Amino acid sequence: MLIVEKYGGTSVGDVDRIKNVALRVKKGLDQGHRMVVVVSARSGVTNELIARAKAITPEPDEREMDMLLTVGEQETIALTTMALHALGVPAVSRTGHRAGFRTDGNHLRARIKEISGGDIHEQLEQGKVVVVAGFQGSSPEGEITTMGRGGSDLSAIALAQGLGADLCRINTDVDGVYTADPRIVPDARKLDELHYEEMLELASSGSKVMQSRAVEFASKFNVPFEVRSSFNDNPGTIVKEEVASMEDILVNGVAVDKNQARIGVGNLPDRPGAAAKVFQSLSAAGVLVDMIVQNIGSEGRANITFTVPKDDVFKAEKALSLALAEFEGAYAKTIGDIAKVSVVGLGMRSHSGVAATLFEALAEAGINIEMITTSEIKISVGIKPAQADDAVRVAHGAFNLGES
Ligand code: ADP
Ligand code: ASP
Ligand code: MG
Repeated sequence: MLIVEKYGGTSVGDVDRIKNVALRVKKGLDQGHRMVVVVSARSGVTNELIARAKAITPEPDEREMDMLLTVGEQETIALTTMALHALGVPAVSRTGHRAGFRTDGNHLRARIKEISGGDIHEQLEQGKVVVVAGFQGSSPEGEITTMGRGGSDLSAIALAQGLGADLCRINTDVDGVYTADPRIVPDARKLDELHYEEMLELASSGSKVMQSRAVEFASKFNVPFEVRSSFNDNPGTIVKEEVASMEDILVNGVAVDKNQARIGVGNLPDRPGAAAKVFQSLSAAGVLVDMIVQNIGSEGRANITFTVPKDDVFKAEKALSLALAEFEGAYAKTIGDIAKVSVVGLGMRSHSGVAATLFEALAEAGINIEMITTSEIKISVGIKPAQADDAVRVAHGAFNLGES
């Protein structure tokens, strides 16, 4: 079999862990498989590099950021390859560019255009393990690009698709995808399998166990994958198109996103086109707006409140001050941080009552809901950040998701 597997930041966090990865890869090889390994930077390295850049300037040039951030993965491909050599395993490292990751030129959030794999198949034919730098690619101009935080997940899934792999494994520091982050909910239960759509909603609602763009890619090209531990051989969670339970289970997981800030726009003229103008300016600035609430207007004026990623507050404020200049008296104000807690399940399509159960449980726990959004298979509430973890546990309990 051709196996593409990814090891995340904690799994390659220090030299001993890198040696552990090499042993696991060797085991795959000894079982007769051809192995391609995608690695992340050591945990903490990417954050540390970002902090250094921000200590120099609040808005670093995005091309230079990509030049900086790709350093982390370049360290780990070299060390992992050396660890394989030390075990007598023939292996070679490849940057994203040499592994044929062609992206557009959008630094820090580049999208994949094509994956050729470079000479990976030839290297495998020669009996080598190929160790590929996650997170990075190159633009048509040959510039180094990165594919968003957590992007090594996308590298692995896209490479599995590009190479026609038989199996794609995402090795991480938990045994699989749980009904909620096991660090927050001690009795969270590992899910044996999960549908792409549920995984996508969980990921885009803040479950960082998988990057949402990676799940999107897997779903689009139907690349089933397994999320499992780097530290044991327990079966993980299979994420795929068809799952046994499908619509029977109302709620399958709870996610939390603590990275949102709330902005209010007040005294906006209550007429067609005003809201459009506000949100066009945000979209032109590349700000992703999430939850939106518009209050009923009075005296021809409206108020809108919405959330954006914390990192985008500065950009949003700049865009809004320009856009609002044409509406006399209108103003924008950053209200502060807000946490979003979401419950996700395919069963919501065909069952009612999920919102009522969730709201009632939160009310009983004294947690006030400040914003609400829904999709076909998800309900999200915006609440005070200090109550976020409690809210996750309450929601998890309300739908009996724990170990029985
Ligand atoms: P890696 O460095 O391997 O990419 P991440 O830190 O990005 O790992 O993702 C793994 C972490 O995701 C876990 O340690 C866990 O705390 C967190 N997590 C959040 N939600 C979930 C969930 N539903 N199931 C499992 N892990 C989750
Ligand atoms: N090192 C990158 C990050 O921290 C990519 C990854 O780990 O997947 O976002
Ligand atoms: Mg990750």
